[in-house]
Amino acid sequence: STQGKDGWFGHPKQLARLFTTEMWERFGYYGMRALLTLYLAQHFLFDDTTTASIYGGFTALVYLTPLIGGLIADRYLGSKRSVKFGAILMALGYFTLCFGGEAAKPYATIDGQRYEVTVEGKGEAQRQFVTDDGQKLQIKGNDDKTVSLLGADGTEVRKVDAGNFKASGERSSFYTMLLLIGLSMVTIGNGFFKPNISTMVGSLYDQGDQRRDAGFTIFYMGINLGSLLSQLACPFLADAYGWWAGFGLAAIGMLASWALIQFDGGRLDGYGERPADATSSRDWLIYGGALLAVPVVWFLFSNLMGYVKPEAGSGILGYIATLPIMGKLLFGTFLIGVPAILFWSYLKGSKVEFQMMIAAMVLIIFNVVFWTLFEQAGSSLTLFADRNTDLSVFGWFSISAGQTQFFNAFFIVALAPVFSILWNAMAKRGIEPGIPIKFGIGLMGVGFGFLFLVWGSQFAGDDFKVGLWWLAGLYLIHSIAELCISPVGLSMITKLSIARIVGMMMGVWFLSISVAQYVAGVVAQVASVETVGGQVTNLKVSLNTYVDVFTTIGWISVGIGVLLMLIAYPLKRLMHGVK
Ligand code: GLN
Repeated sequence: STQGKDGWFGHPKQLARLFTTEMWERFGYYGMRALLTLYLAQHFLFDDTTTASIYGGFTALVYLTPLIGGLIADRYLGSKRSVKFGAILMALGYFTLCFGGEAAKPYATIDGQRYEVTVEGKGEAQRQFVTDDGQKLQIKGNDDKTVSLLGADGTEVRKVDAGNFKASGERSSFYTMLLLIGLSMVTIGNGFFKPNISTMVGSLYDQGDQRRDAGFTIFYMGINLGSLLSQLACPFLADAYGWWAGFGLAAIGMLASWALIQFDGGRLDGYGERPADATSSRDWLIYGGALLAVPVVWFLFSNLMGYVKPEAGSGILGYIATLPIMGKLLFGTFLIGVPAILFWSYLKGSKVEFQMMIAAMVLIIFNVVFWTLFEQAGSSLTLFADRNTDLSVFGWFSISAGQTQFFNAFFIVALAPVFSILWNAMAKRGIEPGIPIKFGIGLMGVGFGFLFLVWGSQFAGDDFKVGLWWLAGLYLIHSIAELCISPVGLSMITKLSIARIVGMMMGVWFLSISVAQYVAGVVAQVASVETVGGQVTNLKVSLNTYVDVFTTIGWISVGIGVLLMLIAYPLKRLMHGVK
């Protein structure tokens, strides 16, 4: 075996190839993510609720498919073939997103009558107008309750109940279908790719190799290096040449990832191969099945995601009742699966094993809260950046809303080594915080990040825009929180779960992130604001809406973080020395 050979920063030389493969894959994914919400809201002109619904459903599926992709690799394909196949599907998906057709045409329905909308100007100066009896009227949202139509001199010509005012876009159903098919391909491709590239990294190290955690830290740097590059480049290209150019670059990155592992020059021979007892006879069945799953996932998207914006006062039960089928399936699997696995552990495991499993499950449940807040980055926070953030950098130049997503990846690359050194130094002195405390810090951190932005929003100018540095500050705090949870969580699972079911527990970990993505979509829906032609009708109302939602989720997460801190000691006892 070539294991243990020092070839690259004191790590097996194969890590270098897995690093670049994953770097380019994440380049594609996060480049696409930097564009997606704005693409939905400003090209397809979906209202905010629908945008959040599509985005939430998509990302929930992105984190659900690894469950199946991991299983298929373990049984039939082996990790490497799965990664190659997933890479091709994802590249096809991003490529499909390049075809969006003409931008949707905005219109408004006022008291049942349909009016064409024209949008003039960009950014600050942009206004929306309807033409009524040859008169051009400017649309102005007042609050949640009414919309005013203003004449040329700014006086109100007409006031409409918000309930009787609906804005939307006339979009091509063909290109909408193509969009959802492209996204479906990405979710399935990711299922084949993401869990298995990580498994391959793990396979580079023998059991008990001290370098394993450091290896994953390096790998995590590759993830974020790819992300930060594309989060700058893809929105730039989308601005300069059109959406297609941004998604096109994501597709090219993904192809680079595929080429790196397809033509590995034998570097990865013997790693991630097909399991010994499996033959190639099933390969084409699996590939064909995955392609057939594309329309199935598309169906899930188009029919089962739906609207979940809660009715006022509907209560938690009424709320669950109104969840679309996909939400019910996700929550159901999670709420039944977790106790079922625990019950199994109680029956089959020793007392110590059972207690360790309880600890793992408790942390997995807290994990849902973290990602629910954290993943606002791709949805509500990007819309906040577009609408209520002053995007100028020291007055020199402006970045685009999608580019603000880059802050997270940047801070991870900058801080991951610092944290690695910090934890080591603390461990040497015997003062490294345990996993529950780190999770608690992460939960409080992700909440405080939002509260920091809420604080900054008090200093918004007359244009209702908050300075960019407040948003950057949120991402700095979120990145520190991420470093307390994300890398820690994966190794925690491998250490706490009963060996026989570690694969399934990994699946439950991903399932918890999937549930979180779904809930994150719901939170983003609650943060919906009224738009016409993809632009908000009242910046003050939108700022207040975001601040309300961010305040609520911020305090909830801080509170849950404190709760976790309080139970950290008993939880630690259940972990029986696992660090
Ligand atoms: N940013 C990391 C990645 O994309 C972690 C994301 C997550 O686990 N939710 O791999």
